[in-house]
Amino acid sequence: MARPLCASCGKRPASYLRTASGKPLCLYCLERSLARSIKRSLRGLGVLERGSTIAILPSSLNPYGLQVTHRLLEPSAKSAGARLETVAPSGCIASTRAPVDERLIGEYEALDVIRLERVYAAEAARLAGASAALLPVDATTLSLLGVEALLGGRLDYIIDSARTAFTVRGVKVAYSLSSVEAEAVAAYAALRGLEPCTPPWRARFSFSYVFKSVTRGRGPELLYGGLASARQLSEALLKRATGSCLSCGAPGYEGLCPTCSRLGLHSGRLLSRQ
Ligand SMILES: [Zn+2]
Ligand SMILES: [Zn+2]
Repeated sequence: MARPLCASCGKRPASYLRTASGKPLCLYCLERSLARSIKRSLRGLGVLERGSTIAILPSSLNPYGLQVTHRLLEPSAKSAGARLETVAPSGCIASTRAPVDERLIGEYEALDVIRLERVYAAEAARLAGASAALLPVDATTLSLLGVEALLGGRLDYIIDSARTAFTVRGVKVAYSLSSVEAEAVAAYAALRGLEPCTPPWRARFSFSYVFKSVTRGRGPELLYGGLASARQLSEALLKRATGSCLSCGAPGYEGLCPTCSRLGLHSGRLLSRQ
């Protein structure tokens, strides 16, 4: 049977059915659409500027995110005169190594991981001489984090699922895949044969399985619905939030947030001193 034509260009055979839009896409058009979304996530941050260095970090929440972000952002960075630097612990293909203090290796609640990764991103970016860092966190993960915060009774963590950029210890940290669903990232990585890369910790989702079981078979729409309600709640919370965590940049705290204080992230102990 002949493959359907790409719904975007109408010329090439489609390689991937994007369930979020219902459109069959060729690899070229999928690539173009993902690249546009990544670029959009940087707009307004002022990070893609001539002479600037941007660090791209791995995230345990999306194993292919680092390679996908790097590959798709490279052409725009080049034409803007900015430099991209991939920064990762050992075991990943990256231009700069930022080894993690081994006392932090382990499994944590996903809501703690997102904050831990922001602190790692800021420290590692600084090590690489970058003023901004990109963490490849995707839209699906953000909506699952919203569910974790709601059902786990950690309402102050709703903000982590709704905000896509933070200032962490003077470094701008943005989520490069915040408007892309996880399955499109995975499909693109598979079609291009990209390598996975994750930091040495794992995220545990305790409540999202409930949500996944009730949304089964109904595509990603409800995930986006979850994200929209998390954003609304977050706006309400942000209105009365004062201060932000000195370590991970989460709004609504004086001093340190519970994650940074529990994991001791304030003392710059994330990177290995070896
Ligand atoms: Zn196409
Ligand atoms: Zn914090």
